[in-house]
Amino acid sequence: MRVIREAKYYVKLDEDRVECRLCPHTCILAPGRRGLCRVRENREGRLYSRNYGLCSSLAVDPIEKKPLYHFHPGRLILSVGTVGCNFACQFCQNWEIAHGEPEVVPLTPEVLVEKARDLDTVGIAYTYSEPVVWFEFVLDTAGLARERGLKNVLVTNGFIRPEPLRELLPVIDALNIDVKGYNKEFYRRVIRGDYEPVLQTARLAREAGCHIELTTLLVTGMNDDLGELEELVKRIRDELGESTPLHFSRYFPHYKLHLPPTPRETMERAWEMARARLHYVYLGNIEHPRASNTYCPRCGSLVIRRRGYTVSPAGLTGEGACGRCGEKLAVIM
Ligand code: SF4
Repeated sequence: MRVIREAKYYVKLDEDRVECRLCPHTCILAPGRRGLCRVRENREGRLYSRNYGLCSSLAVDPIEKKPLYHFHPGRLILSVGTVGCNFACQFCQNWEIAHGEPEVVPLTPEVLVEKARDLDTVGIAYTYSEPVVWFEFVLDTAGLARERGLKNVLVTNGFIRPEPLRELLPVIDALNIDVKGYNKEFYRRVIRGDYEPVLQTARLAREAGCHIELTTLLVTGMNDDLGELEELVKRIRDELGESTPLHFSRYFPHYKLHLPPTPRETMERAWEMARARLHYVYLGNIEHPRASNTYCPRCGSLVIRRRGYTVSPAGLTGEGACGRCGEKLAVIM
């Protein structure tokens, strides 16, 4: 069953063409054509979302898997994804749903919200594929989830224009935003995007009062230059604050890119560099005795221990303060 819904955020042009205004690509589409994301289509001069309520993936995950380390640690979240993406990352880890033709099942906002409640989760994470490209469904579902007392989390590439983002943010509680490095050429050539709109999304989300964490996958020899990463970290500190959690994730070969996995030394050097500027820096996809834990930025106590997805926030008070020195940490309990 195909669910077609007229898209929000587009303008009509001459000769039945339309310009999509959802993401910074601003695709101009002749009748019958689809955007770069493959899921928005011009039909006789109107733009339609082709994936409203079409679900490719649904699972209950630890919230740490998003990754969100500072938002309701230890809780479960219902995770849902659709098809399509507005980026073309050559190393995509979810390429089957982002760029392939996976099986999908129809889902309504009501059913999804009830599932999240029945399964005793903290809320819904719009993830796996890029949530921006089923904007209308996320907006409807998140509004309903909010009414029913659930949290809404976006795991996103952040490539969305400010106007739709401002409509969505009031019903979003937390975001993990993928900042794919600080190299324009890498973003343009390997991803088909740009980091400035992504950082703008992070700033707008922060201004709207959402909790944000950032993830950067370090791709061997492509975006892992320490000097570039240092510039990125400085911008994060200056524009988003030194308490913004940052996750460096280790690359493994996927999809069209077959480079060696990120060297351990590269991961550790990036971690050390970033820790000198930000309070909370983590390493993902790699074993490390300290880089998954949260330490108090004031007294250095271990406050949240993580081993895999086993989480022990024993060093925190119920209000998210350090049990030893009383420092209030940037953790939402
Ligand atoms: S959401 Fe899709 S159709 Fe719209 S501008 Fe972005 S890539 Fe193009």
